[in-house]
Amino acid sequence: MSAGSLQAARRAAGAVVQAVRDVAAGGAQRAFCAVRPPGHHAEPGLQMGFCLFSNVAVAALAAQAAGLRKVAVVDFDIHHGNGTQAALGGRPGLLFASIQSWPMWPGTGHPSELVPDNVVNAISPDGAEPEVWRRAFERLMDRVDAFAPDIILVSAGFDAHRRDPVGHGSQRLEAEDFAWATRAIADVANRHAKGRVVSSLEGGYDLEALGQSALAHVRALGEG
Ligand code: ZN
Repeated sequence: MSAGSLQAARRAAGAVVQAVRDVAAGGAQRAFCAVRPPGHHAEPGLQMGFCLFSNVAVAALAAQAAGLRKVAVVDFDIHHGNGTQAALGGRPGLLFASIQSWPMWPGTGHPSELVPDNVVNAISPDGAEPEVWRRAFERLMDRVDAFAPDIILVSAGFDAHRRDPVGHGSQRLEAEDFAWATRAIADVANRHAKGRVVSSLEGGYDLEALGQSALAHVRALGEG
């Protein structure tokens, strides 16, 4: 951390909250928040894993306050969103759906973990090919589809890219796989949520891969 970290963290959380309010008010249908620090490891009383505030969890509650009753959070960062799970687990009107590599820090998020009913965890094994990750993600999105959300928030981490140094190549995704996942999210949003999607950057540490993947994600968000 540095002297500017608190302001950066507040602006990161505030950006996602503002995006949700804009979308709830009908001023926009989709948004991507290119923020750092990320948020999905921060638990309500604990900073963790580069994360100070649980940006997307805060935004999920802001979405409900803005009148969107059912909020789904989809987390495709290679790491489990333990902070989002801790913040949203057991709360009415919220669904948290997360896919992670396994095994992987922080060691939570295996489907066998005992979690509240509104939490769905999926894994893709270490070293899996993108097809394996896609099948697991499809099953995750089936649960989001069945929930019929009024808005989908995305914890968009791009560290499942094959070149990511922090994900150390445990997953082998390319930019096109993130575009595919984004289209799957947009399909469900179009079916239930008037297309409403607010996405926020989480991990992604190879700058070239991060740029390409985020661009593919934003383009897919913009396709409708
Ligand atoms: Zn991550």
